[in-house]
Amino acid sequence: MNEITLSPDEKLRYNRQMIIDGWGETGQLRLSSAHVGIAGVGGLGAPVALYLAAAGIGELTLCDNEQIDLTNLNRQVLYDSREVGESKVATAARKLHHLNPGIILKQRHETICDDSIATIFPRCNLIIDCLDNFETRLVLNRFSLAQQIPLLHGGVREYFGELLFLQPPDTACLRCCYPKDVIQPMPVPVCGAVAGVLGSMQALMAIRYLLGDQKLVAGKMIQVDLVSMSTDAVAVDKRMGCCECDL
Ligand SMILES: [Zn+2]
Repeated sequence: MNEITLSPDEKLRYNRQMIIDGWGETGQLRLSSAHVGIAGVGGLGAPVALYLAAAGIGELTLCDNEQIDLTNLNRQVLYDSREVGESKVATAARKLHHLNPGIILKQRHETICDDSIATIFPRCNLIIDCLDNFETRLVLNRFSLAQQIPLLHGGVREYFGELLFLQPPDTACLRCCYPKDVIQPMPVPVCGAVAGVLGSMQALMAIRYLLGDQKLVAGKMIQVDLVSMSTDAVAVDKRMGCCECDL
């Protein structure tokens, strides 16, 4: 079997990250063999997709069922005013291809539900929750539990955000954290830069997980307050009797 190596161009493209202590060509090849599913390419999903494409994640599957709307443009930094009305995933894939033509980009312009998710995110090493509604987050949670695929949850509202890395069967699931349905105000009020910070943090956690980071903050709810510029990590335990994971 031929040994997989980086091309000279790839060594240049990824130079600034490969010279980070402990990253190197080995780490970069780990990223290039990874497949990440991004659920929602909006306020969180845009920076997640941009940084993962730039970092050289080998395959990204983007799923979103929406078209670009003028109200998206305060925070969804993959899109601009000329693209209002276009499909988010098609526009995102086109721009990400320009950013990094060396990765595989799959587009799924559809709604995530229990019946469709297995065909949307097959063979992913990680799924990133960049959604804005709780019902579909639970679909991701069920799929993550059934397939034992790690799920990286993120959410934002106003100047605040949260992150949670779920690694079944070892950690709590999303339903353990939220036994009751979360009713979001619609539309969700959010400052664009807050989505940028939280999405960037999700991308960072994903990259460190794929590099093999053993010290990842799995099973802890990271609460980010961007008024006081502080973060908190609260351990979340599996909940006895959880209707999703304690079966
Ligand atoms: Zn649970």
